[in-house]
Amino acid sequence: MVSIMDSYQDETIQCIDCLQTFTYSAQQQQIHHEKGYRNKPKRCPKCRRSRHPKSEMTQDEVIRELCKAVGELRVKVDTDLARITDELHGARQDITKTNELIRKAWDDYQEGQDGQDQKSAEGKENDQEDHESQKGSAQG
Ligand SMILES: [Zn+2]
Repeated sequence: MVSIMDSYQDETIQCIDCLQTFTYSAQQQQIHHEKGYRNKPKRCPKCRRSRHPKSEMTQDEVIRELCKAVGELRVKVDTDLARITDELHGARQDITKTNELIRKAWDDYQEGQDGQDQKSAEGKENDQEDHESQKGSAQG
């Protein structure tokens, strides 16, 4: 009986990138066969990893890369947050200024409206008084 493992033998392959030889182990051959890979690897694991950082990584490496990425992301987020906070602070000052301007403009407008109303009301009253006084003088 020939077991599956016996049908594969360790192979030494020269990497096409760094030209160093690496072992294409019987176990790897079996795994690759099970995965349906027909071609032998052309590159050593190191070069393969640098070409495809996400493939051929062990769980520890993935976790390490993730932690690194998260750390970098956190630094980036911190930097962005600081920048955004600064911008927001600036924007808030602008908004406060704008609000003040709007309030001032609104107050001016309201004052203007009140003044106009009062003037027109006074004008009407004056007109009425004038008419009445005219009437009175005409009658008297
Ligand atoms: Zn290589």
